[in-house]
Amino acid sequence: MTRVAPVIPAPTDILCESCGYVLNGLPEDGRCPECGAAIAESSPSLRQDSLWEQRPSIRSFLATSSAVIFKPTAFFRATSIRDDVQLARRFAWIHWLIVSVLLAATAVLHLHIILQSPLSPFVITWLMIGVTVGVFVVLELVTRLAAKLTAWEAAYRGYRLPYRPVLRGLYFHAAHYLPIGLIALLTLIASQFALNHYPAHFTYDRYAYILCAEVILAAGYLFKTYWIGMRNMMYANR
Ligand SMILES: [Zn+2]
Repeated sequence: MTRVAPVIPAPTDILCESCGYVLNGLPEDGRCPECGAAIAESSPSLRQDSLWEQRPSIRSFLATSSAVIFKPTAFFRATSIRDDVQLARRFAWIHWLIVSVLLAATAVLHLHIILQSPLSPFVITWLMIGVTVGVFVVLELVTRLAAKLTAWEAAYRGYRLPYRPVLRGLYFHAAHYLPIGLIALLTLIASQFALNHYPAHFTYDRYAYILCAEVILAAGYLFKTYWIGMRNMMYANR
């Protein structure tokens, strides 16, 4: 069987944000002929740069992070589509640095728990540095790869999701690593406490099960939030 490649809408095409139908030339006060959504709801003017991009500061960093984490659909539905990723990358770098340090501390505690002996300051220092740098580099590489694969898959299916806007979206998605890093570290601290104080009730097996479950839940959470971001960008107009 031969496959007819779907046509990717042009950058200037106006798409219905609900269903992806091409609305070019239709009156702005009308409705989408395909799904009936108001055409005005797909206006590019409803999308703006993130607060962080409008004015980078600690306050806008926190506001944008909280919007991404707590209202991802609204954030990606209201954020502009752009090729310029510079400020978004800086946003991601700050989040990756935070999560890298959190995961490094988690790794130190984990090693401490499984070895059942205190670690030397030398080991702790190098483990912290190594894991921090390692996690950061892996996140940068994985994000670029994910953006490439997303853009490639989208083009194959006829969706308008080019590499740079996708990469920018994934840089904002980086905020979702924060809850994961915090929960991982808190789990380790709580487990350490429980292993020390309630050894009859809290065993190493239970500790291992909890860690495994959290890894699976974290992967599911990251994928779900990734999908929310891409779903709300693929019919976006600029
Ligand atoms: Zn529609």
